[in-house]
Amino acid sequence: MLNTLRRIVQEVNSARDLPTALDIIVQRVRGAMGTEVCSVYLLDPVSARYVLMATEGLNKDAVGAVSLANNEGLIGFVGAREEPVNLEDAAAHPKFRYFAETGEERFASFLGAPIIHHRRVMGVLVVQQKERRQFDESEESFLVTMSAQLAGVIAHAEATGSIRGLGWGGEPVQDTRFDAVPGAPGVAIGQAVVILPPADLKAVPDKTAKDIDAEIALFRSAVETVRQDMQDLSTRLSTQLRPEELALFDVYQMMLDDAALGNEVINLIRGGQWAQGALREVVSSHVSRFEVMDDPYLRERASDVKDLGRRILAYLQEAGKQELVFPEHTILVSEELSPVMLGEVPKEKLVGLVSVLGSGSSHVAILARAMGIPTVMGAIDLPYARMDGLELIVDGNHGEVYASPSPELRRHYLELVREELELVQGLEKLKEVPCVTTDGHRMPLWVNTGLFADVARSLDRGAEGVGLYRTEVPFMIQDRFPSEKEQQATYREQLEAFHPLPVTMRSLDIGGDKALTYFPIKEDNPFLGWRGIRVTLDHPEIFLLQTRAMLKASRGLNNLRIMLPMISSVYEVEEALHLIHRAHSEVCDEGMVVPMPPVGVMIEVPAAVYQARELIQMVDFLSVGTNDLTQYLLAVDRNNPRVADLYHSLHPAVLQALLKVAAACRDAGKPMSVCGEMAGDPASAVLLMAMGCDVLSMNATNLPKVKWLLRQISLSDAKALLDEVIELDNPYLVHSTLHLALRNMGLEKVLRQGR
Ligand code: PEP
Ligand code: MG
Repeated sequence: MLNTLRRIVQEVNSARDLPTALDIIVQRVRGAMGTEVCSVYLLDPVSARYVLMATEGLNKDAVGAVSLANNEGLIGFVGAREEPVNLEDAAAHPKFRYFAETGEERFASFLGAPIIHHRRVMGVLVVQQKERRQFDESEESFLVTMSAQLAGVIAHAEATGSIRGLGWGGEPVQDTRFDAVPGAPGVAIGQAVVILPPADLKAVPDKTAKDIDAEIALFRSAVETVRQDMQDLSTRLSTQLRPEELALFDVYQMMLDDAALGNEVINLIRGGQWAQGALREVVSSHVSRFEVMDDPYLRERASDVKDLGRRILAYLQEAGKQELVFPEHTILVSEELSPVMLGEVPKEKLVGLVSVLGSGSSHVAILARAMGIPTVMGAIDLPYARMDGLELIVDGNHGEVYASPSPELRRHYLELVREELELVQGLEKLKEVPCVTTDGHRMPLWVNTGLFADVARSLDRGAEGVGLYRTEVPFMIQDRFPSEKEQQATYREQLEAFHPLPVTMRSLDIGGDKALTYFPIKEDNPFLGWRGIRVTLDHPEIFLLQTRAMLKASRGLNNLRIMLPMISSVYEVEEALHLIHRAHSEVCDEGMVVPMPPVGVMIEVPAAVYQARELIQMVDFLSVGTNDLTQYLLAVDRNNPRVADLYHSLHPAVLQALLKVAAACRDAGKPMSVCGEMAGDPASAVLLMAMGCDVLSMNATNLPKVKWLLRQISLSDAKALLDEVIELDNPYLVHSTLHLALRNMGLEKVLRQGR
């Protein structure tokens, strides 16, 4: 059963469009289950009706013509129950509704399974049979498994159509939203430029051929080059391979003949597709044909065709390399954006970034934040390969991408872009003034940095210190561990640039989703694994070297603070302090006079919240990393768009944890800071200030907004607001109550950041 399922899903996956996918589904499921009928009904969200979209066994003329209201007939019944319905005699069921057009009166038994994707009922998959019988358990579970697998495929096919403004019935659709995770704050509207990974057939976008003859010539020349490569390879290997193995090259040569792939590709180019798109179409249809064959030898041919396709594509892409044209407002889209790709676009044209893979801590997201380019990461459902040239909206605040924007949505976002620009310009003058509330409370605002590029932007925005310098960033952009001297030079730059302001350097925080290519960590559960302080305590040589580099870099400046990430127990702090003291005495032994810097612990793990009182006794300050603390308290992966809806830093549990840390610091008379993204959210910053935070550290982009808001409010109002929301038990309520209150105070200017 598993093989049958896998094969059907594979075949459906490579279908060109939704109607083809549905046709394959009904044919294959009917065949696999041996029923007389298999049909798919899809729920049209606009009309709220189930439309018969494909059938094997019912009258095909009824496809597209027969539809039922969402509460009508057995189909509506399956959808409403969100459960399979298994009937021996369908006509006897009170919900049965007869359609003469389908000819379904001949079929007595009925088994329908809902097709559900991300909680949304998308349609119903049905099999029917003349014979009166109950479908057995294994048939029921086959259909349920099939429809669960198909839901994603259908959703993808639907999304592919909708990015071009068409629903599955060909009707216009707008504002198609793809959920992802925020990469860098801000919103942007622009035109997608899709950068393809080299020679990935699946990633080739549709494009209209500008010059058909030139595309054909390009294709022919690529085929010729591959043919020559094959010849050379075959000659080179003739002494090592047996003749039967060398025959593979003859098969390749045959497939390259016009009669096989060639003519089909050329015909598609004549129809207007560019050479790469035509090649993708032809190769994928051959591959799916081979892949479903029962004969394992023939099935193997599928990978030969794929390989051949990739080889031709590599030459086509080489020839077409110069083709990237960047429009005025370029939104760069790729399966996996890299910093190098970013560098290809003229700076003034780049307005947004979208990456299908990766997370908020990927290199490219770090760079984007430093450069202030709105970015979303992990847009896993985005049919990106088909998006070149389309207008897109990137919402880097919420981690969303919109395709086919309606005039209203476009206007809304244009307004946000304009407001944002105005706001940033209007807030520039705030640089010189301190962050003081209307009742005179002083709230220091610091920045989070990683690259040297962050320095200028931070100082430009009036940062009063660095609350988190992510030392792993310079490690990530190297291809080996930087030496002590190299680290010392990098740290010196940061310390000097901010001097005399304090710079809080965090010890190397790798693991989780932050990987070093030259120090790979492979784990099933990386966020619960070898991460942060756990790695560096296991490698004291790395920790000592880094600490020495920090201490030496601070010579004569004395503005260094050191911070320890991912602490979950007091003994980790003991060990780390021991190493810091050792590094300090080593530096002193080398004849350098540097004071012992203040040391702090990051509160990122629930255990650390409950031991905040013990921890603060051991160090000089605590700094809450709300990004991780939220992730661990709510058990929600901070980088997984599938659960992004569950990730709330305003969750009552997170607020309670913050209050606990604040109380521990207050009682110990030592400072508490917050350096997660929450500190840079203006509305949340009000609550953090009310809790008694001594420092808020954030990305430089948000600093002026936070400063503006805190300068408009009094500490006593902020405390009253905190008292109100702390009573609430639901994160949505906390969010809306907080925002409503701030709006009512006339402070919405910095709250409107999207949606
Ligand atoms: C955090 O977890 O909140 C934090 C500031 O650290 P990072 O985002 O680098 O994990
Ligand atoms: Mg963290």
